[in-house]
Amino acid sequence: MTENLQISQLGDPALRQIAQPIDNVHDEWVQTLINNLMTTLLSSNGVGIAAPQVAVPYQMLIVASRPNLRYPNAPTMSPTVMINPRSLTHSQEIVKDWEGCLSVPGIRGLVPRYKSIAIEYTAPDGTVRQHQLTGFVARIFQHEFDHLSGLMFLDRVESTQDLVTEQEYLKRITINPD
Ligand code: ZN
Repeated sequence: MTENLQISQLGDPALRQIAQPIDNVHDEWVQTLINNLMTTLLSSNGVGIAAPQVAVPYQMLIVASRPNLRYPNAPTMSPTVMINPRSLTHSQEIVKDWEGCLSVPGIRGLVPRYKSIAIEYTAPDGTVRQHQLTGFVARIFQHEFDHLSGLMFLDRVESTQDLVTEQEYLKRITINPD
């Protein structure tokens, strides 16, 4: 039985905590957290989630790009659970694109991120994996990875003029779908 966890909202100190590494991915609480985090993500139209968003200050995140009501143009991938993730290298090129956050409902912002990034993480079965991520998926990773350091996408926006409501955002991507 998995649980749909409550998502902390902007202003909750839980979102500003520094997440701790997970020592043993085979611990029961870790496997329970994986299942609950996945359930919470899938039921909330998110494309990613990090454990600090459900007030659990440990280094776990899920990247799960797929088209949905909040991101109609997102590429499809199978949801990937990443434990103790770290960045290895990244492109020099930086791209600005729209982001939202389950912890910041109703707001979208233009956020600069590395276009591609090489990462390493521990999978739920305990194996260490490396991936090269590009584009929207690289963006999701960088967004979720920031949550592990207590950072929100709002901290990365270059100007308050780069902030819009979700309604305005949907209008823009419908008119100009790239
Ligand atoms: Zn977020």
